[in-house]
Amino acid sequence: MQVNEVTAYLSLGSNLGNRLEMLHDALKLLHAHGQVSVTKVSPVYQTAAWGKSAQPDFYNCAARISTSLAPEALLDVLLATERALGRERLERWGPRLIDLDLLFWDNVQLTTNRLVVPHPELHRRRFVLLPLADIAPQLIHPGEKQTIAQLAANCSDPLAVTLLPETVFPNT
Ligand code: ADP
Ligand code: MG
Repeated sequence: MQVNEVTAYLSLGSNLGNRLEMLHDALKLLHAHGQVSVTKVSPVYQTAAWGKSAQPDFYNCAARISTSLAPEALLDVLLATERALGRERLERWGPRLIDLDLLFWDNVQLTTNRLVVPHPELHRRRFVLLPLADIAPQLIHPGEKQTIAQLAANCSDPLAVTLLPETVFPNT
């Protein structure tokens, strides 16, 4: 890792089209970016759709990256990657080909018009915490002051989250 690089964590989700391929293609595109390296990826989990329930289940995973991008510049890359994969923002909480959320950027706490880091819902969502706990169990949430493993164990999210046998990695 270069001196100007930090570790960040992402949550990826898809519930339209070939969901596994969407997760894979998103990681591949991110890894191809000159200022982002995908360094670890969790297994894939399946989750009932949150919010509007009459839609396909989500496939979710979490990824650790190394990046020299500042938080908002990284958000721009995530949004551009969503667009490159064909995501259209039609309805809030509706089905989506790909959703890329920034969970942590180093241990920074930041709120701007466009970005809240750590992601404000991450500690309430089992589909974010379970994959994240696979790759970063001892990471401490700077706001909640608990590890990801503790947050996952204490999470009261009722949605069932099921581990799938499939894996995705940008180099494959
Ligand atoms: P959600 O992920 O909450 O379902 P969207 O993917 O449609 O919703 O994101 C809407 C907006 O959320 C983005 O355009 C972005 O400006 C904002 N946002 C705020 N904080 C974050 C974050 N940590 N990661 C990703 N997007 C964020
Ligand atoms: Mg999002």
